[in-house]
Amino acid sequence: MKWSQTLIPTLREAPADAEILSHKLLLRAGLARKLAGGVYTFLPMGLRALRKVEQIVREEMDRAGALEVLMPALQPSDIWRQSGRYETAADVLFKIKDSGDREWVLSATAEEVITTLTAGEINSYRQLPKNFYQISVKFRDEIRPRFGLMRAREFIMKDAYSFDTDDEAAQKTYQKMYDAYARIFARCGLKALAVEADTGVIGGKFSHEFMVPAETGENEVVFCEKCGYAANLEKAVSAAATAAGKAGAAIDKFATPGVATIAALARPPFNVPAEQQIKTLVYIANDKPIIILMRGDDQLNEAKLAGKIGSTVFRAATAGEIFAALGAHPGSLGAVKGTARGAFAGAVLADERLRGAAGMTTGANEDGFHLRNVSMERDVAVSQWADLRTVKAGEPCKNCGAAVQIRRAIEVGHVFKLGVKYSEKFNALYLDEAGNRKLAVMGCYGIGVTRTLQAVIEHCNDKDGIIWPISVAPYEVCITPLEVDAGSEVMKTAEALHAGLLERGVDVILDDRDERPGVKFKDTDLVGFPIRAAIGGKSLARGEVEIKPRGGAMQTAKTGAALETIVQLVKSRAQG
Ligand SMILES: [Zn+2]
Repeated sequence: MKWSQTLIPTLREAPADAEILSHKLLLRAGLARKLAGGVYTFLPMGLRALRKVEQIVREEMDRAGALEVLMPALQPSDIWRQSGRYETAADVLFKIKDSGDREWVLSATAEEVITTLTAGEINSYRQLPKNFYQISVKFRDEIRPRFGLMRAREFIMKDAYSFDTDDEAAQKTYQKMYDAYARIFARCGLKALAVEADTGVIGGKFSHEFMVPAETGENEVVFCEKCGYAANLEKAVSAAATAAGKAGAAIDKFATPGVATIAALARPPFNVPAEQQIKTLVYIANDKPIIILMRGDDQLNEAKLAGKIGSTVFRAATAGEIFAALGAHPGSLGAVKGTARGAFAGAVLADERLRGAAGMTTGANEDGFHLRNVSMERDVAVSQWADLRTVKAGEPCKNCGAAVQIRRAIEVGHVFKLGVKYSEKFNALYLDEAGNRKLAVMGCYGIGVTRTLQAVIEHCNDKDGIIWPISVAPYEVCITPLEVDAGSEVMKTAEALHAGLLERGVDVILDDRDERPGVKFKDTDLVGFPIRAAIGGKSLARGEVEIKPRGGAMQTAKTGAALETIVQLVKSRAQG
C-alpha cells in the first residue's frame, strides 16, 4: 500500500471533546471519526487494526472449539419479553418500531436469539456440548457516551454462548473460554487481570471480568497483593468489621434541629460517629418505594442492589415520594418499627454490616428529630439482609486479612456461568442417554472488540503517539523514502524493499508523500507503525538503510540485507 493512495488524516491537535489519551490518539492518528455521540466510522488504518483484533479473537475461539455464526442485530421484542430482559434491561436497550407499529430491539447481546435457536435445533445429548460465537455490531442506549470507543452506543462485540449437558461439563467449557480469553488479551499485547465480577441483570451463577489496569478506566478493581484476590468493586467483599452489640437502654428521641446529614450528626454538640449511625435511603423499584439501611460510614453499591432486586430499573426516590412514604424529609428518615408516618408498606433491605448492631442512632421520621439506642434486632423490621456496601481501600482482605487496594481498570471481556436461566425460559431441552428431558446448562462470554482496540492504544503509547504491538498494528512496517522523485535511486530502493516485503508476507506501507522527512517521521510515530525503514540519499551513498523499531533504537542494515533484517525484526516482535 502507498500512503498517498489510502486515507490517514492525522491531526496535530485532538478535538476538544476527546477526554482520554486513547480517544485523542484514535482521532489524531486518523483511525476513526465520530459521526454522532458514541457512533464512529472506522477509517482504513483503524479498520485494519480492528480486523487484526477480530482475527485473534476468531482464531482463539475456533481453537477453543466454538462455532462461528452470525445472528441478527434486529430482534423481535417478543423474545426479550420472554426472557424478562425487556423490562430488567430497559435502561440500556435500543427499542424501535417498524411502520406496522411492531416493536424491535437492536441487539445488546443474543442470549434470547441463540437459546431460541438451540431449543429448535438441539434435542439430544449427542449434539452437546455446543458453543456458538459471533463477532458483530451491538447497541447500547448510553445516556452519556464518552471516551471514544470505550463507552459507545454502537460497538463491535464478540459474544459466545455455550450449551452443556450438566454443571460439570459447563464448568469445563467455562474454563476453556477463560483460558482462551487470557490468550486473546496476551496476543493483543494487553496485561489483563481476571477478576471476580457481578453477574448483574444477565444473571447466572458466577463470572469473571478481564480488566486492563489503566488510570482512565471506568471500572474499579479491588485486589489483594498478598493472596491475589481480585474483584470488581461492584462485586468485591472484604472482612470489614461488623458492629456487634447488645440492645441496652430504651430508644430515646432527641431534637436535632437543622441536622440533615451523617456528617452533621457526627459534629458537636451531637458527636455521633458515622459508624454508629444508620443511613436510611429510599429507592423506587417496580414503582414501589423500598428502604435501604446502611451503616453511616458505608456507601450503597447500586450494582449489588441491582443483583439483589434482579433489575437495573430503579432510582432514588424524590423528596415528595419520600415524604409521602415516611412523613419526613431526607435527613430525618429511619426504619424503626412504628415510626413511618406516611403510606410506606414496602420492603426494608439492610446491609449485612448492620446485622446485630445496637446502640445506633437513626432518623425519627419526624423532621428535626433522631432516635438513639436503636438495636437492629429489637427495633427494626428488616425484610431482607444483603451485602449492599462498597468495599474501601485498606479494608482487610476476605481471604487473608491483608489490606486491599483499589485500582482503576478497563473491562475488555466478561465470562459468565449462566446455568439454566435462559434454557428454562426458552425450553432449551435435550434428551439424555436414559431418554429423560433435561435443560441445557449455559454459559455466555463477551469481548468488547472495539473497546479492546482502544485499550491497546491506552496501554501502548508515548508522547509521540501510538506504539502498536505488531499483532494488531495496521501495518507492521512503514518504508519512508526521504525523497520521492520517480526513478531516483532512493525511490527505486524503497519500491524494491516494499515489493520484497510484500512477497515475504509482511504488512507494509510505503510513505510516498512529497513531504519533509520531519513531517513523515512525526506521522509515522503518531500512527504507531512498529518498524520504520528510512531511505535517504546520504545513507544510500553509504549503502545503508536506517531501521528503527517504534520506541526503540535506530540500527542500520546494508541495503542488500535490509529486507532480511526487517523480516527477522517483524518475526521476533511477533513472538515477543
Ligand atoms: Zn488476600
